[in-house]
Amino acid sequence: MHQHQHLNTPTRQHMKNVAIIGGGIIGLSTAYYLRQAGHNVTIFDQGDLTDNCSSGNAGMIVPSHIIPLAAPGMISKGIRWMFNAQSPFYVKPRLNGKLIRWGWQFYKHATNEHVERAIPALKDISLLSKAMYQQMVKDNPFDFDYQERGLIMLYQTKETEHEEAETAYIANKNGIEAHILSPADVQKLEPDVNVTVRGGVYFPGDAHLTPQLLVKNLIAYLKRNNVTFHTHTPITNFSLNGTAIKSLHTAQEDKTFDEYIVATGAWSGIFSSALGLDLPLQGGKGYSFTLDNVAKNIRIPSILLEGRVAVTPMGKSLRFGGTMEINGIDRSINMNRVKGIVNTIPAYYPEMNVAMPQEGAIWRGLRPCSPDGLPYIGRSTKYKNLIIATGHSMMGLSLAPGTGKLVASLVNNESTDIPLAPFNPERYQ
Ligand SMILES: Cc1cc2nc3c(=O)[nH]c(=O)nc-3n(C[C@H](O)[C@H](O)[C@H](O)COP(=O)(O)OP(=O)(O)OC[C@H]3O[C@@H](n4cnc5c(N)ncnc54)[C@H](O)[C@@H]3O)c2cc1C
Repeated sequence: MHQHQHLNTPTRQHMKNVAIIGGGIIGLSTAYYLRQAGHNVTIFDQGDLTDNCSSGNAGMIVPSHIIPLAAPGMISKGIRWMFNAQSPFYVKPRLNGKLIRWGWQFYKHATNEHVERAIPALKDISLLSKAMYQQMVKDNPFDFDYQERGLIMLYQTKETEHEEAETAYIANKNGIEAHILSPADVQKLEPDVNVTVRGGVYFPGDAHLTPQLLVKNLIAYLKRNNVTFHTHTPITNFSLNGTAIKSLHTAQEDKTFDEYIVATGAWSGIFSSALGLDLPLQGGKGYSFTLDNVAKNIRIPSILLEGRVAVTPMGKSLRFGGTMEINGIDRSINMNRVKGIVNTIPAYYPEMNVAMPQEGAIWRGLRPCSPDGLPYIGRSTKYKNLIIATGHSMMGLSLAPGTGKLVASLVNNESTDIPLAPFNPERYQ
């Protein structure tokens, strides 16, 4: 991969005015690479940039996750879990055309053929994105507490052990290093905390960071580098000019740009309908809470597989995250599902004593979920100056710099670092 030059100043004819709609980690990362290429960038967000999916997530950078959510076994598990209020995966049954269509597409993609097709695509973009994080650490424009300590998948039951051994086999076969660990091996990696498990799988190539630090410092960096931010500015209307977007409308005025980037996260389904695009997408709600000043902390991020709970050390803090509730853009907090996370912990960390948090201490975010588990990244064929960058589901933080780099290549009319065909935003049309 070639080294970036910082804040290039392209010749005037190459410099573009670019609007990014959505200032979550995908929009912000895109702005970072567009600025590096010397473009003028303006970000519009309906909120204040803190109330989205990008700050309270589990902070894991996961090239290990090459198998999409839509995979064989998910359907039967999903159906079993649907009847349990504390289960990790839930689809709120609603008579909603968009949800029914999404569910049908998910079902159709839960096959071995889809998994085989998705693996190289997810691997490519994950490795690109991790390399971009490494480059960012080297360039050191700001701190985000990036750590390369890997990820441990922990399990209690024989059934999960089999599934995870299969996952490790598939990972190794595809060049992602994975090691099966005995309970004693796990304990050796976690000397400060008592861990009770049947075993684990260690992915040494994974990493983690503190997402709220990344978001805060990236926003400050972009502001210092003349990126314009319009917060509390929802964008719902455009003026069109045949096959191009002419301008976007805020409540106050119309603004004209050369390129428009859609990075509206879980709202992208609604947003794209307004433009007459067909982008099946549902919010996948998840929760997290964070313990501060943990005296005996874990060292390596872990996933407690039976409860699908993610646990990440962030300095002296420890964050627990989990549950996936496919439920449009509803952002209410369901304490039963948080209870599911809390109740999972003692079986793995018997000495941790984590109390049920108050509702005010719970963070929730909506993952932008495409039905096939692959993001939407690419130029629209309907409007030639529209680029879509969303649908990263449970991996948006991991895939953000890679996505930003790819979008910058599209804006620059350059070839992209990896093939974009698997991420075609019009694949459902
Ligand atoms: C519990 C939990 C744990 C997670 N853990 C991880 C993890 O460990 N690793 C990982 O890689 N990923 C993780 N994720 C997923 C990750 O957080 C998301 O994929 C990512 O944050 C999505 O980023 P985004 O920029 O697409 O969306 P968002 O952060 O939601 O940003 C979208 C933005 O668009 C704005 N917007 C929407 N519509 C409009 C409009 N019409 N006009 C203007 N603005 C608009 C919104 O206000 C919002 O700010 C986790 C998610 C959850 C819920």
